[in-house]
Amino acid sequence: MADCIVVGAGLIGMLTAQALAGAGVTVTVLEKSRPARESSWAGGGILSPLYPWRYPRAVNALARESQRHYPGFCRQLCDATGIDPQWTRSGLLIADIDDVSAVKQWAELYADELIWPTAEQARELEPLLGIAPELSAWLPGVAQVRNPRLVQSLQAFVEQQGVEIRPQCPVQGWKVHGRRVASVTTPQGDVSADHYVVAGGAWTRELLEATGIDLPIQPVRGQMILFKGQPGLVSRITLYQGHYAIPRRDGHVLFGSTLEYTGFDKRTTAVAREELTRAAYELLPGLAELPIEKHWAGLRPGSPDGTPAVGPHPEIDNLYINAGHFRNGVVLGLASAGLLADLLLQRPTALDAAPYLPELFLK
Ligand SMILES: Cc1cc2nc3c(=O)[nH]c(=O)nc-3n(C[C@H](O)[C@H](O)[C@H](O)COP(=O)(O)OP(=O)(O)OC[C@H]3O[C@@H](n4cnc5c(N)ncnc54)[C@H](O)[C@@H]3O)c2cc1C
Repeated sequence: MADCIVVGAGLIGMLTAQALAGAGVTVTVLEKSRPARESSWAGGGILSPLYPWRYPRAVNALARESQRHYPGFCRQLCDATGIDPQWTRSGLLIADIDDVSAVKQWAELYADELIWPTAEQARELEPLLGIAPELSAWLPGVAQVRNPRLVQSLQAFVEQQGVEIRPQCPVQGWKVHGRRVASVTTPQGDVSADHYVVAGGAWTRELLEATGIDLPIQPVRGQMILFKGQPGLVSRITLYQGHYAIPRRDGHVLFGSTLEYTGFDKRTTAVAREELTRAAYELLPGLAELPIEKHWAGLRPGSPDGTPAVGPHPEIDNLYINAGHFRNGVVLGLASAGLLADLLLQRPTALDAAPYLPELFLK
């Protein structure tokens, strides 16, 4: 019997498994389909919230903590598995600033470096830029990871640590005795552990319904398109009017994303493709010369203000939650997994755990 069962093998579940296994805990991860093929695969991998000053402090505190650890963590994963998550400091150029004082206040607390480039300097930073921004902000310290590689590397790493990941093993129910989970029900039979962690992404609310709580996490569809370019053609992460371009090392450029409240429907749409291509060609007109290689959609685990729920279930003593990272699960996940492991193992936490307690999210 494992010490801990994690439900959901997305990035958050696997990071949680990694943090626990690193402390000597035996972990089994139960996954309803294939590991990390949902939001964690579909996402962009920017290691910063977009317009971070629009988010609560709780989100920025987690982001900051993760950002500190990501370079070393990616090196560790690459050394151990040979799969490079491609942590890259591309910098983030935000080309539509309208709330200068909020940006300055945020930067004092959370940015190592913030530069206010002129329109000309913005063009020097990203020569493909097709707009002349009135006011932009340049955050040279912002990095990205190639998230499909990150999750592949992480999966290999946790398996090396002895974590068992069971694909095609959906959790269908909970057997609760008093204030404790005794086991979870799956098509492969009941599975028991001392502790349980729900990291079910957009499916977390449904997963937890039978435990007596209604956590307001809902699926929010995001669609992206992928251009096939040459290395170096685009070099900065660029954000304008809610849309962004992410250049990968091999020349691919991701362009995203939509924000759609359409339930668990993961289909791509012609309307979104039109919206994304129009925005892409306005921001970086050179992209119009490139073929669109892919178009996909993923379901973000949407929480009310982007703060994830991290910590113990309010009514069940051996059940924990790490979910609701919304648009920022890649950047927040490393720190939130560390926080969850500290809480479960009753260790001092690196961050104040109070703003993330699941009980705060209940209506
Ligand atoms: C288009 C798009 C762009 C994004 N860009 C960024 C970005 O640039 N930076 C950033 O930080 N974040 C970004 N995100 C957000 C980020 O991808 C998510 O916040 C993060 O991946 C959430 O991880 P997760 O593990 O909670 O969810 P998921 O990756 O969805 O994993 C949840 C897992 O739980 C499993 N599961 C569900 N129910 C059950 C069950 N009953 N039993 C067993 N398993 C179950 C699912 O199959 C799934 O594998 C983006 C997301 C999208 C969609």
